[in-house]
Amino acid sequence: GELATGTLPSACAAAPHRRALLFPAESDRWLTHGDIAEHSTRTASWLRANGVRPGDRVLLCGHNTSALVLAYVAVLRAGAVAVLANPAYTADELAHLVTDSGAGWAFAAHPATERLSGLDLRVVSLDKPLPAAPRTGRQNPAPEHDFREDRDSAHDLALLAYTSGTTGTPKGVPLTHANLLSSIRAAMLAWRWSEDDVLVHSLPLSHQHGLGGVHATLLSGSAAVILPHFDAEELTRAMRAHSATVLFAVPAIYERLVDAPDALTTPTLRLAVSGSAPLSPELADRLTRLLGQPPLERYGSTESGLNVSNPIDGPRLPGTVGLPLPGVELRIADESGVEVPVGRDGEILLRGPQVFGGYWNRPEATRESFHPGGWFRTGDLGRIDPATGYLSITGRTKELIITGGFNVYPREVELALEKHPAVAEAAVAGMPSQRWGEQVTAWIVPTGPADVDDVLAHCRRLLAPYKCPKQVYVVDSLPRTSMGKLRRSALKPLDTRSLD
Ligand code: ATP
Repeated sequence: GELATGTLPSACAAAPHRRALLFPAESDRWLTHGDIAEHSTRTASWLRANGVRPGDRVLLCGHNTSALVLAYVAVLRAGAVAVLANPAYTADELAHLVTDSGAGWAFAAHPATERLSGLDLRVVSLDKPLPAAPRTGRQNPAPEHDFREDRDSAHDLALLAYTSGTTGTPKGVPLTHANLLSSIRAAMLAWRWSEDDVLVHSLPLSHQHGLGGVHATLLSGSAAVILPHFDAEELTRAMRAHSATVLFAVPAIYERLVDAPDALTTPTLRLAVSGSAPLSPELADRLTRLLGQPPLERYGSTESGLNVSNPIDGPRLPGTVGLPLPGVELRIADESGVEVPVGRDGEILLRGPQVFGGYWNRPEATRESFHPGGWFRTGDLGRIDPATGYLSITGRTKELIITGGFNVYPREVELALEKHPAVAEAAVAGMPSQRWGEQVTAWIVPTGPADVDDVLAHCRRLLAPYKCPKQVYVVDSLPRTSMGKLRRSALKPLDTRSLD
């Protein structure tokens, strides 16, 4: 539809003189929207002159720097496909991405540059000024030039993103310009993003969630301050110095900010968005008190973009991710794809212009991930509240614990555990058990000295007996990805007393 015409670079039509991006760790000079158009066009032109063709995959592996953003826009402008890689990836992980994507080029920062050196591809350093075609005065291509043939390029691939692999090996997720544009435009409408907004951003740009902040900034013609990584003090300083209006973060970051709340009380802040992992109602509550308004929780994934969000005006309900964004169709279904009655638990299915068309070179995984009619199986479990129509995420199909023949969703047990005042964070998984097949096992990070028996008594008040943990481990921290997502597969039994 209207949300998805043209390409991402051609849709960046901000007034050239307006400030766009600031990288305080590199320089105190803003890049304007015009600077981004000009630099990326010259680098795109250089790429084309050096043999990069439309549809070629180009790996991008860098930290949050101006070079990474300019290289990314240049790759898209050249008609090539950006393959995003986490700069912390090892040589083996990078080799998997290069082989799987078939990338023949890479833009990489130290030390990934060295990790890529043994592979068969051309590596351009992100630590030096980017190669660019010379400025040729009047012959210089117009900034909006995107080097494409005259055809509808909205349905060409823009990105080959990889899932973060919390549930298996990373799979390539091809996303078209139309997918990206409809996803970010729907969110911009819903969140009333305007050219006057200022985002202060510390999420990794190598991940879809982080990159979304750049997309919104470029498309709306607004401004963003990009920090190298999350640091509560730096974030606070930048938010206050640049009068931040919007903040994107994940629950693990909000968890840290409630203890250093000056960022959250920035007077200009109008919107604090949370996503990527569940925001516990307790944390939402503490945030509401500091922000003076509830945080806005939304739901999305690499495969399906941004698709469900709490509203900007209507009530934001803690423990829910809200309502489908414009253009998104949502359904709660059973195993076979049949819709279940409203109010019942089932798998969340999504359809719409945001949703990808299938995994990269994985016909089997693609077949398993769609029901007839183009409904994408998110693998997430959810429930729609009959009164409000809001969606709650209740678990993930792959994380289901089957214990003594009963189904237990770890998220439900985690929510119960997190309601106990002595529990700061909780993780639940099924561990092999002779007696139960799998037994419900919990890992808790305590707020102080924790009385495990009291925590268990609390669980028994809230949960059916078969859902209560059979074992509780008290730990200092939980295993998480760079986006603060729980790595459930990394939860391992520890040496502690059994409560069986
Ligand atoms: P993999 O698919 O390789 O296991 P991943 O699912 O972590 O990795 P992403 O696409 O980065 O890959 O994450 C999307 C998932 O994050 C969603 O399917 C959902 O499980 C979770 N998620 C995102 N937003 C929320 C939210 N607000 N509440 C709960 N879960 C969320």
